[in-house]
Amino acid sequence: MSITFSKLGVPQWVSEALARQGITEPFQIQKVTIEEGLIGHDICGRAPTGSGKTLAFGIPLVVRTKAAKPRKPQSLILAPTRELAAQICKELRAFSGKRTVSVVYGGVGYGPQRKALAKGVDILVACPGRLEDLIEQRELTLGDVKQVVIDEADRMADMGFMPAVKRILDQTSNDRQTILFSATLDRDVEQLKKRYQRNPVLREVGEKTPDIKKAIHTYSIAAKSEKSRIAADAVKALWPAIIFCRTRHGSDRLVKQLKQYDIEAESIHGGKSQNQRQRALKYFSKGKVQALVATDVAARGIHIDGVELVIHYDLPEDHKAYIHRSGRTARAGNKGIVFSIIQPDQKRASANMQKRLGISDSVHKVEPEELSDLNASTKIIHKQASEKKKTSANRPSEHRASGKKKSSNSHRKQKSNKHSQTSNHRPKAKPKAKKSSHKNRNSTKNNSQKPQLGSNNKRPQKKKSGTPNRKARRAHLQPANRSK
Ligand code: ADP
Ligand code: MG
Repeated sequence: MSITFSKLGVPQWVSEALARQGITEPFQIQKVTIEEGLIGHDICGRAPTGSGKTLAFGIPLVVRTKAAKPRKPQSLILAPTRELAAQICKELRAFSGKRTVSVVYGGVGYGPQRKALAKGVDILVACPGRLEDLIEQRELTLGDVKQVVIDEADRMADMGFMPAVKRILDQTSNDRQTILFSATLDRDVEQLKKRYQRNPVLREVGEKTPDIKKAIHTYSIAAKSEKSRIAADAVKALWPAIIFCRTRHGSDRLVKQLKQYDIEAESIHGGKSQNQRQRALKYFSKGKVQALVATDVAARGIHIDGVELVIHYDLPEDHKAYIHRSGRTARAGNKGIVFSIIQPDQKRASANMQKRLGISDSVHKVEPEELSDLNASTKIIHKQASEKKKTSANRPSEHRASGKKKSSNSHRKQKSNKHSQTSNHRPKAKPKAKKSSHKNRNSTKNNSQKPQLGSNNKRPQKKKSGTPNRKARRAHLQPANRSK
């Protein structure tokens, strides 16, 4: 029995706008929150990444928001990162009708944000830091805010935004509706709920530790000096890859080191301007670079489907960070591999973490070159499993496959299947057609120092002119801040 948005009380003008984007059937978290959200109840929702939380709060918000006066928004959505804030704004604008939606975040100029606020913004999406700056500069006040959403409340807490969030909430109207969404509901989130929500309805969807077991977990032990080579070999075997480093400086350094191994990579971290971050994401999602090297903070809220490999280059801070990082792959019903590069002195910490995550028995020790074959074999198994499952209902990924992303997903599946049958004989293509002689020299030098690679890890083939990059087409990445 399928439920439509109309049955949940969503007005026709909204459901029609959604249908135009191929969104016709609500995901599970939307089914269990939209009705109450539309009535004005406070909601505390937990659902895994990618389960459709944006519309779960976005629809009630768009419907309930009244026209705002200049500098006095009626609704406020707080998000932990710039990327996420921009993405929410874009997603809401696609169906917000007369209601204006604008976004404010740091790392870009104040001018356009000031101008928008002065003109009047009904629904404001904001990162806490820039919002507080603008309030201090008297560009807006929050006294008229009747609806507040705190998105990714757990990330907000992890990133140290809780005091700012509380200060901001204290300035909003007392009779507001407060909606809180999070992938986990732990201590800090519980505290927010207690202090700022009135009889919230609690809605939980999906497993508490999302996604993690959908990926294949692997590791290698390597001395510090060897780590960049191991990472390069891993990316050569399997990409698109997101590589996690602990620090900004470490991320930039790794990008340079990877380039020496002939890997195209971009870093993304808090020290980069908004434009640089967006450009890196664009290159990555288009397959122009094989690896995105990210710090934990910058990676929060990045939603890109089709990431084949996540590398823990530096050990994650704790098991929560491992889950969050690893959740960048094996999304939307796809398979993926998580690869940890562990220094000998980190073996114990890492074993404890694996135990805590419940993956001790299923984690494989591998050579980086083996990742390609491992990926290929899981694709075959996964394809068989997913064919069996195809009829089962209520999985976000399946809704998506039957909705607007159908073509991209089926495209990806076909291609990966093809890949799985041939990967033993076919090297991974490099994203760039041309390499400078400098790079060629480098790669020859580096290769001669490296151990013999497996058959699947020959030198990358050059792209034939006129043929679009095969791997890039195969991955057909879907950045969440897509233009729809
Ligand atoms: P979350 O916030 O839970 O991580 P998002 O709200 O970003 O998830 O949604 C993940 C993806 O699913 C987005 O690309 C979104 O457009 C898409 N999506 C959300 N709801 C639906 C739906 N009911 N039908 C089809 N696609 C949807
Ligand atoms: Mg979200």
